[in-house]
Amino acid sequence: MPKIIILDENTACRIAAGEVVERPLSVVKELVENSLDAGAGNITVSIAGGGLESITVVDNGCGISQEDVPLAFQRHATSKIKTAGDLYQIQTLGFRGEALPSIAAVSDLLIKTRIRENSEGYYLNLRGGKLIEEGPVGCQVGTTVTVRKLFFNTPARLKHLKSKATEIGLINELLYKMALINSGVGFILTHNGRQIFQSPGSAKLLETVAAVYGVNAASVMVPLEFKDNEIQIEGYISKPELSRSSRQQITTAVNGRLVRSFAINSAIEEGYRGLLTVGRYPVAVLLLQMPPGVLDVNIHPAKMEIKIEAEEKVLSLITTAVRSALREVNLIPGFSRVVHEKVSLPPSEEPYHLDMLSIEKTKPESQQKFSLIPSSKESAYLKKDEGLKNSSKNYLKQDNLNMPEQAMQFSTQDNVERQVFAETVSNYLSSNFPELRVVGQLINMYIIASSDAALYIIDQHAAHERVLFEKYFSNLQNGNAEIQYLLAPVNVNLKYYELELLAQHSQSLKALGFVFEEFGKDAVLLRGIPADCSAVEAQQIIADMMEILVDTGKLGTTDLNYKLASLLACKAAIKGGESLSIQSMQTLINLLSKSKEPYTCPHGRPTVISFSRQELNAMFKRT
Ligand code: ADP
Ligand code: MG
Repeated sequence: MPKIIILDENTACRIAAGEVVERPLSVVKELVENSLDAGAGNITVSIAGGGLESITVVDNGCGISQEDVPLAFQRHATSKIKTAGDLYQIQTLGFRGEALPSIAAVSDLLIKTRIRENSEGYYLNLRGGKLIEEGPVGCQVGTTVTVRKLFFNTPARLKHLKSKATEIGLINELLYKMALINSGVGFILTHNGRQIFQSPGSAKLLETVAAVYGVNAASVMVPLEFKDNEIQIEGYISKPELSRSSRQQITTAVNGRLVRSFAINSAIEEGYRGLLTVGRYPVAVLLLQMPPGVLDVNIHPAKMEIKIEAEEKVLSLITTAVRSALREVNLIPGFSRVVHEKVSLPPSEEPYHLDMLSIEKTKPESQQKFSLIPSSKESAYLKKDEGLKNSSKNYLKQDNLNMPEQAMQFSTQDNVERQVFAETVSNYLSSNFPELRVVGQLINMYIIASSDAALYIIDQHAAHERVLFEKYFSNLQNGNAEIQYLLAPVNVNLKYYELELLAQHSQSLKALGFVFEEFGKDAVLLRGIPADCSAVEAQQIIADMMEILVDTGKLGTTDLNYKLASLLACKAAIKGGESLSIQSMQTLINLLSKSKEPYTCPHGRPTVISFSRQELNAMFKRT
């Protein structure tokens, strides 16, 4: 049995360094955090050779007094906490007293530092953790740390490092995020002598957002604000027209600490539910403040993860804050924004923008003549007094004319409910949807409309889908139903387990408009169907709903309702290719404008895009 010994300080440091100092990125993070804790207003990070040659961090913070400099390089030496109890009242980024000794253990480190009270500073040079030199030095107030030859004495670690380009990329991302969550601090990043990033340090978050993501991106960011006694949330989030294919552009901080939290990201995404297509994520900066007592920050070696007490509450506040911030703005993507997006985002990862870009592609051919005047065929369909008064189908779907005869009866009860719905819907006027006048229909797919200031193109299917979705979703939640009873019931064959599912979910299905009656062991009689579809469509929808119901075990009620409502909305909505009358299009637009989220269909695709007067003028080269 080998003898147990206590490791010497140097070896212990090198082991600890493995935890704290994983790569050049971690050195930058620790040094920058120290500068922030020192109250610096400017922090310059200069990197050479991907960080392996050298990393220099210069700050104008409080500095370290001469007698404390050597102490800072002892393990567990910190000025930030005194007792374990302080761990629960942490206001600083550092607290373990590990970073400086750990970095010094695996590099050649030079620190120069001066406090305001002294006319000169002090320097220390350590190599592999051993003190080489120290003494007074002339320098500015603040601290400069230079780390050279990182991992020179730990070749194994050196071997595992990715390329210099990867490392500088990661450092760059880190500084973006540090700048975003500390907008009052001016950051500069240089690599091999070339400046690659500078933040304004103006304490105006939107200006930092512009410095990081560009002015175009900043112009589609929406401010977010929430405050109660305990929690404060502020920041900027992107309108759905600006999205990314990963969560990388979501930056969150809790009490000034950059955190990586799956739960917080999910809460933000929940706020965008239905506004972004699957696999797309917003650009967001969210700064949370809460009493330090409700946090445990000491659960991750790089301090990137934290534990929040009563996390559920915080998460739901985040979702609500995101949702209401988005609701307060006009979310219609403008033409020039869409075009700008192309420059900054690879089209392949952007199905939504791809659609939009095809507009630009077809521009040269847009001399392809289309007349905005409704065709005579449509006018033939234009019926008097169309609208909500009859079925919501009547005002839109032309094929009402040849619907199966048996499917046309409404009870008074249903009419009352419809009216209640119409009223509820008109209370949602909170979104800033412009007042639009329909001009005409284009290739039987798009509605052309105008306001005083712009031209709008609305996807008729997506718009109707949104309107129907909100109706079904609210019906499901309130148990309201809008049923058209069939004069002759339809026999629907089902498997045994499908009958079970049907029985289990009969309340929800009824709220959607489906009324069944038992009919033997492998069939049901369909007595009522949703007011917006035909009996034939209804049968197809039942088959599709079965697929959703089969794997609902894991879904919460809201998720299930969301899925059912969007399925039905998609099936019942008018399709592209259907010719519509001006009047029915106007009704649709009016309903859309009263929707809670008029800008996207439930799958997150846009319902409407716009061309502003300026954009049109520019395209026609008017000055
Ligand atoms: P921690 O940050 O956890 O306290 P560190 O090893 O990172 O531990 O730093 C040790 C101490 O050195 C800090 O507590 C602080 O007092 C001092 N220090 C480190 N960097 C700076 C800096 N840039 N400016 C002022 N003081 C610093
Ligand atoms: Mg530190």
